Amino acid sequence: RTISLTAIALPEEPIPGVVIVLHDVTELRRLERTRQDFVSNVSHELKTPLTSIQAYADTLLEGAIDDAGHNRQFVERIVEQTERLRTLILDLLSLAKIESQQEVFEIQPVRIAAVVANCIDAHRAIAESKDVALICPDTVEDSVLMADPDGLRTILDNLVNNALNYTPAGGSVFLEFARDENWGEIRVRDTGVGIPRDQLPRIFERFYRVDKARSRAVGGTGLGLAIVKHLTQEFGGNVDVTSELGVGTTFRVRLPLAAEHVTTGD
Ligand code: ADP
Repeated sequence: RTISLTAIALPEEPIPGVVIVLHDVTELRRLERTRQDFVSNVSHELKTPLTSIQAYADTLLEGAIDDAGHNRQFVERIVEQTERLRTLILDLLSLAKIESQQEVFEIQPVRIAAVVANCIDAHRAIAESKDVALICPDTVEDSVLMADPDGLRTILDNLVNNALNYTPAGGSVFLEFARDENWGEIRVRDTGVGIPRDQLPRIFERFYRVDKARSRAVGGTGLGLAIVKHLTQEFGGNVDVTSELGVGTTFRVRLPLAAEHVTTGD
């Protein structure tokens, strides 16, 4: 523990003395360290694509612009890294907005089947290009959850994106749904690379990645799961994960059912 000590002299009192105040500043120190780590992570993440944009642009200016064999390739790298910066900045802004509670959510009844169907449509092409099957069993029940529709879509998009990114060709990603009396549960299950058990508790932290190189290669920012966690909490729910290395990973998002769909027992 870290204790800070303040001594206040009391010379004017009838009996002169000193008051000593002890503050436990452990938590403050921890928060300050988290903030410093965050700033240094952000700076590093922004610097990496920027350095490469600058290097490609310099090389072009130094003559490669006239090299028909390479100039197009260099410009493509610049566009790629610019896109990476853009995604990172958008993710950072959306996380900052959610965390500072500036984002206004319109929590309302949302039909799960519609959100799942839209999400699958949006990812069908990318799944096909990666040769990963994206499957929503017919048994998905059309229950109604309480959530902000755009926020719920962001949650699913992030989880499905990850599942597609961390599942090798030939594998599958399933979107399943279950419910009990009060809660609806959306499961995003993949047959991918899996996550080592000791790292599971950390993957919802900002910028935490199991394999940095792989995350970067698939265009990850390390912020997706932090956003998912904050959003589900904002909607009064929670998210958890189970995984087995080399077998696959399942994320479960639990959200409250809309009142008229809650089983009352009568
Ligand atoms: P990223 O942008 O790197 O994917 P996320 O916050 O979305 O960042 O995820 C954090 C890390 O958790 C990833 O870098 C990856 O190591 C791991 N991860 C997330 N989803 C999966 C998954 N479905 N299968 C295996 N690993 C995953």
